[in-house]
Amino acid sequence: MTNPAKPKSSKPDAFVMDANRLDALIGALASSGHAVMGPRVADGAVILGPVAGAADLPLGVTDRQEPGRYRLKTVKKDPAYFDFAVGPHTWKKFLFPPREKLWSAERAAKGFAVREDGIDAARRDKLAFVGVRACELAAIAAQDRVLTGGEYRSETYALRREQTFIVAVNCRTSAATCFCASMNTGPGVGAGHDLALTELGGGKDHRFLVEVGSTRGEKVLMALNAKPAKPKDVAAARAAVAQAAKGQRKMPKSAPTVLAGATDSPRWADIAQRCLNCASCTQVCPTCFCNTVTDTTTLDGSGAERWRHWDSCFTLDFSYIHGGAIRGDGAHRYRQWMTHKLSHWFEQFGTSGCVGCGRCITWCPVGIDITLEARGFVKDAKGKRKG
Ligand code: SF4
Ligand code: SF4
Repeated sequence: MTNPAKPKSSKPDAFVMDANRLDALIGALASSGHAVMGPRVADGAVILGPVAGAADLPLGVTDRQEPGRYRLKTVKKDPAYFDFAVGPHTWKKFLFPPREKLWSAERAAKGFAVREDGIDAARRDKLAFVGVRACELAAIAAQDRVLTGGEYRSETYALRREQTFIVAVNCRTSAATCFCASMNTGPGVGAGHDLALTELGGGKDHRFLVEVGSTRGEKVLMALNAKPAKPKDVAAARAAVAQAAKGQRKMPKSAPTVLAGATDSPRWADIAQRCLNCASCTQVCPTCFCNTVTDTTTLDGSGAERWRHWDSCFTLDFSYIHGGAIRGDGAHRYRQWMTHKLSHWFEQFGTSGCVGCGRCITWCPVGIDITLEARGFVKDAKGKRKG
């Protein structure tokens, strides 16, 4: 599933808009019936939630991220709207909510009256996302494949996804935990957006390069009186994005093949010594989709509900089948998570399950770094070949 691409035309695809028109863009999305979601500061982090206007966005806020650590900082000179990297929330919380009532039933005169609560709620959810990064677009595309591209389709996800308008943002800075460049998912926006912004200049010269990605994006932009971009604006935007890729940490290219052959590596036990099995990495990951379903009934038998909620391969119950849990210890659970993300996803979904957003590194309470662990496996494999 992708956003409807813009057909080729002779009209320009890149425009320039004053930064103070951001308010008008959010207003236009709201007045066309969208619930607009974007970044905002709460509880010491940039989180994702409803935004009523540009004043809700984290102007002049940047972040410092490293394994197991996250702090915000304020920038006074030439404050920008989007000079921070991804925070703990992901857009999946809107498209694939952490808890969702799928259906409910109430005893009626004859049998039960059944309500499709999940489908009804998804139909009402006409969302617009402002500030989606390149790695997050890749994560949404990965979830599209998992949740709508096969036998086990989520109709609630598909309905929300179909209606969602996406304003992407090209990154001008990376956090120390980002590695999207080595995953070919960022920091520049590729596809899957309706509009893509790149922040330019600052102070009195604060502007956005706005690139059109779909016909509905073009329609919204035309109402904002943006001017066609000059080649120097496009060049400045491209240079800023190229700068963001510099100095990022890297995922080794051979990680998928090396991990596929590392089933019996003693490294899994070493990682398990440090891993708390808290599942934080899976909850912040934009591609993780493991979920479970619970049914409840009232004590008097007059009603029942079915809920779907996020689960994690780090919980003991997740792999429980008749006779016990398949992955009984932490080493097996971490192995499942890492090899699935970086290796077996390719066989299952034709893509990587990791987009290099770095969230699992920042939000791991003990600072386990998936790139560093992958490098360890690659080093072992090279050692074996030499020996
Ligand atoms: S595995 Fe980690 S770096 Fe990769 S997409 Fe998930 S949270 Fe981001
Ligand atoms: S790797 Fe880190 S975040 Fe993930 S389960 Fe282990 S301790 Fe928790």
